[in-house]
Amino acid sequence: VMASMAHLQGEKLRLQEELLGLQEKLAAWQNDELSCSLQLQGQVETLKAKVLEQAQEISQLHSELGGMDTEKHRDLLAAENERLRQEVKACEGELQQQQAPCWDCAHLQENARLQERVSQLQREAEETRARLAELDLEVQQKTNRLAEVELRLKDSLAERAEEEERLSRRLRDSQETIASLKSQPQQIKYIIKTVEVDSAKTKQALCESQSRNQYLQEQVGMQRQVLKEMEQQLQSSQKTVAQLRAQVMMYEAELELAHGQMLEEMQAMEEEKNCAIEEAFSRAQEEMKAVHENLAGVRTNLLTLQPALRTLTQDYNSLKRQVRDFPLLLQETLRSARAEIGQAIEEVHSTNQELLRKYRQELQLRKKCHNELVRLKGNIRVFGRVRPITKEDGKGLEATNVVTFDANDDAVLHLMHKGKQVSFELDKVFPPQASQEEVFQEVQALVTSCIDGYNVCIFSYGQTGAGKTYTMEGTAANPGINQRALQLLFSEVRSKAADWDYSISVSAAEIYNEALRDLLGKEPQEKLEIKLCPDGSGQLYVPGLTELRVQSVEDINKVFEFGHVNRATECTNLNEHSSRSHALLIITIHGLDRSTGLRTTGKLNLVDLAGSERVGRSGAEGSRLREAQHINKSLSALGDVIYALRSRQAHVPFRNSKLTYLLQDSLSGDSKTLMMVQVSPAEKNSSETLCSLKFAERVRSVELGPVSRKTELASWPSQEHLEVTRGCHSPPGRGHVSPSPGQLSGRTASIRRKLQTSG
Ligand code: ADP
Ligand code: MG
Repeated sequence: VMASMAHLQGEKLRLQEELLGLQEKLAAWQNDELSCSLQLQGQVETLKAKVLEQAQEISQLHSELGGMDTEKHRDLLAAENERLRQEVKACEGELQQQQAPCWDCAHLQENARLQERVSQLQREAEETRARLAELDLEVQQKTNRLAEVELRLKDSLAERAEEEERLSRRLRDSQETIASLKSQPQQIKYIIKTVEVDSAKTKQALCESQSRNQYLQEQVGMQRQVLKEMEQQLQSSQKTVAQLRAQVMMYEAELELAHGQMLEEMQAMEEEKNCAIEEAFSRAQEEMKAVHENLAGVRTNLLTLQPALRTLTQDYNSLKRQVRDFPLLLQETLRSARAEIGQAIEEVHSTNQELLRKYRQELQLRKKCHNELVRLKGNIRVFGRVRPITKEDGKGLEATNVVTFDANDDAVLHLMHKGKQVSFELDKVFPPQASQEEVFQEVQALVTSCIDGYNVCIFSYGQTGAGKTYTMEGTAANPGINQRALQLLFSEVRSKAADWDYSISVSAAEIYNEALRDLLGKEPQEKLEIKLCPDGSGQLYVPGLTELRVQSVEDINKVFEFGHVNRATECTNLNEHSSRSHALLIITIHGLDRSTGLRTTGKLNLVDLAGSERVGRSGAEGSRLREAQHINKSLSALGDVIYALRSRQAHVPFRNSKLTYLLQDSLSGDSKTLMMVQVSPAEKNSSETLCSLKFAERVRSVELGPVSRKTELASWPSQEHLEVTRGCHSPPGRGHVSPSPGQLSGRTASIRRKLQTSG
């Protein structure tokens, strides 16, 4: 812009000089009309060219100025903005990388520099505007000068006209003079004639006048030629002036138009420039604001990050220290932990010992309490069960019900015998409608106590047909105590399986006519003996009695089936046979508490006694009498044993019958006994019912010694138990596996051991 302005200035000065030259030339032209006219033409030509040049120059300058002012400024500003933006980004990057605290100072400097540049550019724009105004003024001045030149031209034309007028007047005068001179020769001829006459002197004067006249005539001719030429020149000059004037007018109009356009364009450009500058400025300000905001955010981030970094560094250092110290600490901790664990193990061990001791104490205490309870309740518990009237009881008076119950006391029962009501009080009385389930509920406490190591005997006593077998064995659809007891034992064993190992084994025997027979052996007819253990412990055992280990209800069913088959094959009438023999189911349970090593052995004797009816008195003979005698003997022996126990006699006659002898360990002082007295409600059985109930009452009053649990802390005799095999189903002698005498003696020896420890 400066350069172009300087150039313009130079041009202007040059033009001014040229104009001055022109003026001088015009002045010279005024002096010399011919040269002036020619020079004027040349000058007008050059002036025209110059004006054209100037106009081009102005337009060029104008375009240059416009380009400079707006687009270049805008481009410059845009480039500047872009650069600044990149610089801000770079600064942010640097800030994040280095987090240098002096960053914002540099940015502020950059900012100030940018603002300075903006103001500088504004100043430049102002200057450009001023220069433009100056140029306008110059153009105006030039136009004025042009007008002046025109005026002067007019003046010179007027002067020239005057000159022409003057010249034409002189010409006229000259012509008049010539005419007067023409008229003069007549006079002169006259004078000459007179003078010739007069003097020679006059003749000489005449000669002179004639030469002078000749000269004047030549002069006039010359003057006339010049005048003609001047007139021609004047005409051509006038033409040229007119042409020049028209051209000047045209140029003026064009100049004015161009000037107006230029002004408009300049104004529009000025506005555009202002708009662009404002826009750029506001954009720059916005960007600056955004940059400032960013800067503030970054600064706050930096402020918040710095303490976090500090704490992180501290944490890192402390962690490093901890990691360094960790192996030592770990070793130390491990040493102390080992010591602590060792101590804790010792403590636990001693606590365990203490607990074991306490547990044993507790067991003793519990046993004492239980014994006390049993003593208070009666050592032998006696239940009565009345069966319903059946078809076999017949009809009429004989089949009438003679047994009634007390609505308020379930232990009392009334019997109408020979017109008199006799009342009996037992531990519990089950009426005819009592279900097998209800009966078993009263019995199950005794059954489960076997698991804890107690010996239990459950007898069913009563005349034939009173329901003994029904109560003990039951029917397939409605099983009795035997099957329910085993089921209960299995479920109890399962529930305790987490702590205890149990094994359950079963033996089945029959005592008929004082002969003991193994119902599970391969030779059921073989009579077994009850023997004393040869070790002198006083314990009894039955050599050859099969003991089968059972693990499920299916095993039990197989055992019962097998027992029944054995029993049935030995007699022609099972019902009669069974009513005259005692059937025994002996269940032995061995337990081992895995945590304490405590061992228990319990025995459950389930006895279906022979019919208690007094056969002998009704005049029976032969084998029937013998059977009756044996039955009476064993039942009375049972009574005697119970009596001796009750009266605490030194001698208890266990040996008086096979039954009492076999059940000696289950009837002795530390056992629990339940007598289920079965009675018929029919009138025809009232005498036997009376006898049975009297026996029951007698038994109930007997006291047993303190009940004890058989426990020991010895190894488990697992090899001594036999599994139920396929051979169990088959008849005797066909693949049935029965234990060898040696195995049995081992088993009985273990039983003996237990009896000793329980002592
Ligand atoms: P026992 O074994 O004393 O000779 P049973 O058990 O064989 O007597 O019983 C004789 C009959 O009476 C059988 O038909 C039996 O089903 C039936 N019986 C016994 N007790 C009951 C009872 N509580 N409920 C129903 N029927 C019974
Ligand atoms: Mg029976």
